[in-house]
Amino acid sequence: MNRSIARYVVDTHCHITTLYQPATDAGWEMVENEEWTGLHAEVQPFDNCFLTLYDMDRYGVDMAVLLPSIPGTTNESQAKLVKRFPDRFRACCSDQKTVLAAMRGEKPWTFKAALAEVDEALATGWFVGIGEFAPGSAARSLQVPGAEGPCDFEERVEEWAALCELATKYDVPVLCHDQFVFLRKGEWTLTELLARISMENPNAKIMQTHGCVEDEWTRGLDGIREMYTVVAGLPNVWMETGGWCEKQFEVAFDAGVSAARLTWGHDYGNVPQHIVRRGVEKWGPKVKALEYRETMSLMMFGYKDWPAVPTYQPDFYGWGLRTIDRVGDWLTQDEINLIMGGTAAKLYKLPVPYPRMFPEGRPDIFGADAAASVPFIPREQIKYPDPEGLRMTGKPNKNIMHATGVDDE
Ligand SMILES: [Zn+2]
Repeated sequence: MNRSIARYVVDTHCHITTLYQPATDAGWEMVENEEWTGLHAEVQPFDNCFLTLYDMDRYGVDMAVLLPSIPGTTNESQAKLVKRFPDRFRACCSDQKTVLAAMRGEKPWTFKAALAEVDEALATGWFVGIGEFAPGSAARSLQVPGAEGPCDFEERVEEWAALCELATKYDVPVLCHDQFVFLRKGEWTLTELLARISMENPNAKIMQTHGCVEDEWTRGLDGIREMYTVVAGLPNVWMETGGWCEKQFEVAFDAGVSAARLTWGHDYGNVPQHIVRRGVEKWGPKVKALEYRETMSLMMFGYKDWPAVPTYQPDFYGWGLRTIDRVGDWLTQDEINLIMGGTAAKLYKLPVPYPRMFPEGRPDIFGADAAASVPFIPREQIKYPDPEGLRMTGKPNKNIMHATGVDDE
């Protein structure tokens, strides 16, 4: 048995149904003309599950949450993989066909149609969340017919109310990837959006993908600190730590974000981004705001003379696990067990082998109402539960005995 980094490991951000190659002649023409980005046109579906399962076994990843993203990847292809490998995969869904139809010029995108597609997908019972791009973010990012131009803040807040209502109806998290897609520069920020939608939709579970800010390139850690501080005070917002460096974990914990609000995942897949170190071309040594980072994953467009889409699969698991190794120098293993899998297991209702694997009842992790965190994973999710009637209440102890001899006065 290989040693894994944690008791139970979940990749919450996995793309394995395409190689980001064109699905159309027009797309291949873009490749010919060196204009292909792998993101902004229809891509060819491809079942990459065997390399993924190999990597998962190699690195000790128990389960992966599959995310559809770019037009051409569909909810249906994600569900198919869940049915084939129910012990290894779960999937999220989004407005994939609505965006694709608009992109093909068949039918303009509308938020209503997008929402209906997600509702229909969730009703099948095969999906555990909405995303990676919740309806409205991908369409506007791609500027497909019906979704041209920037989106007004209040309009987006209204759309989020509908997204949250749908997510609450099915009791699944809704992923927010509104960064970099349609924000009107200077008018409002992702942090403001998160605060607003969290407070107005208190029953919804909102997951901030990549846990990143849209202005990291200009504000660096300042923007990150501001966002994590706000998120720490929003009880229904979680963050996925995809692409984080050690410093981001430090800032998050300094800001009061607990491990029970963080999940691990990295944009795994043959995604059009390379993991590069400082000094490499586009990133270079010049960006002052990013000086806290040594390595970063960056989209391929903008790199002169590099393949438009990586032809091999950059190793996101190896990269991400090394970061957690460094975080493990100052964070406890119990907290790492939450980040690496426990938080995701609870949020996405994943099956876990045994009870009592994750911390619970601890005020340092769960705050004043820590007793409510016991049991952390509900019994019905546990494959081999404890015998019925075991008396474990999580009732706090008010008595403190000083065994150290240190005087309080
Ligand atoms: Zn992604």
